Amino acid sequence: MKRIYNFSPGPAILPEEVLRQASQAVLEVDGSGMSILEISHRGREFAAIHAEAKAALLRVLNLDANEYEVLFLGGGASLQFAMLPMNFLSEGRSADYVDTGEWSLKAMKEARRYGGVRVATSSVDAHYSEIPAFEPPAPGAAYYHITTNNTIEGTQWCDLPVTGVTPLAADMSSDFMARDIDHTRCAFIYAGAQKNAGPAGVTVVIARRSFLSHASPDLPAMLAYATHVKNDSLYNTPPVFGIYVVGLVAQWVEAQGGLAVVEARNRRKAALIYAALDTHPDVFDVPVRRICDRSIMNIVFRLLDKDREPAFLQGAKERDMSGLKGHRSVGGFRASIYNAFPHEGAEALADYLTSFAEARA
Ligand SMILES: *Cc1c(COP(=O)(O)O)cnc(C)c1O
Repeated sequence: MKRIYNFSPGPAILPEEVLRQASQAVLEVDGSGMSILEISHRGREFAAIHAEAKAALLRVLNLDANEYEVLFLGGGASLQFAMLPMNFLSEGRSADYVDTGEWSLKAMKEARRYGGVRVATSSVDAHYSEIPAFEPPAPGAAYYHITTNNTIEGTQWCDLPVTGVTPLAADMSSDFMARDIDHTRCAFIYAGAQKNAGPAGVTVVIARRSFLSHASPDLPAMLAYATHVKNDSLYNTPPVFGIYVVGLVAQWVEAQGGLAVVEARNRRKAALIYAALDTHPDVFDVPVRRICDRSIMNIVFRLLDKDREPAFLQGAKERDMSGLKGHRSVGGFRASIYNAFPHEGAEALADYLTSFAEARA
C-alpha cells in the first residue's frame, strides 16, 4: 500500500502500525475467533481492551487513576460543548470562556443555553490570529474553558493557564496527546478522537473525579456525566472499535518514548514548514505572527496572490499531498501535521513551498 501525505484536519492520519493492528483485529481480536466489530461490549475481551485503553491514556498524560476518570462517549467534541454546561451551570451559575475562534464560539453558544457565560478574554479583534493574554477567572466561575489548539485558525496555547481554585476545562480535540504539558492543571479534558487520537465516533473525556462529583444528576441519562461515571462508559453500547483504536494510539505514543519525544518531533516538523513559509513573505502570508502562538498541529497560510491557489493545490496533488485546503470559513491553506504525520512529509511540503515560491522569481 502506498501512503500519500495526508494533511487532512480530521479525520486524520493515524500511525501505520496502529492501522495494521486494527485491521488484524477487524478479522480477529486476541484469538477470540471474533472480530473487534463483533464482540460484546460486556464480554471478557472488551473488558480488557477498555481497561487498557483507559490506563494507557492516563499513563501517557501522566495522570493518576485515583484522581482522574476516563470516559468514552459518543456525539463528538460538539456534544461536550453542551454537556459540560448542562452538567455544571445549573441554578444560575456562570462559567468563563476564552474566545479564540470558531470552536470556542461554538462551545460558548451551547453554554449560553444553560447558564451564564463570561468571555474572560478574546482575540476576535486580532481576527483570532493570536492567543489573548491570560485573564484570571471570575470569582465563583463554575469552570474556565479554553480551546488548547484552534484547528481552524492555527493558534495554540503555549502552555496551559493556571486557574487556581477554578476548574480548568480544555477542549483538546486537535492537540490531545501531542505535547508534554502539565495535564494536572485541567479538571476536565475532552477531545473528539478523530484529530490526533483515533477514528471518528468516540470522544475522550478525562476529568477529575472531584469535579465530576458536582455534575447535575437531574438530566436525561445519556447527557449526565453521573450516568457514564457510574456505569464506566457502559450505560449504553459504547463505540467499541473507536475505544480499541484510541488505546492502540496511546500505546503507540508510549512506544515512541512518550509525550516529550512526540512533542519534539511535532515541533521539528512544524518548524520546517514555518521556516519555508517565513522565508518567502512576498509569496506566503502566515496570519499567526507570534511564534509561541503558532500551532504545531495545524499550520495555516495563504498565498498573497490568490490567483495562484489552484496551481498550488494542483502541484501539491502531483506530489501526493492531500488535505491542504484551508477551512471553508478562513480560506487559504492548512497543513495539519498530527502525531502520526511523517517527518518526510513535512520535508516534502517545505521543499514544495520553497520551489513554489522560487518558481515565480
Ligand atoms: C474538530 C473539533 C471539534 C469538533 O469535533 P467533533 O468531534 O466533530 O464534534 C471541536 N473542537 C475542536 C478544537 C476541534 O478541532
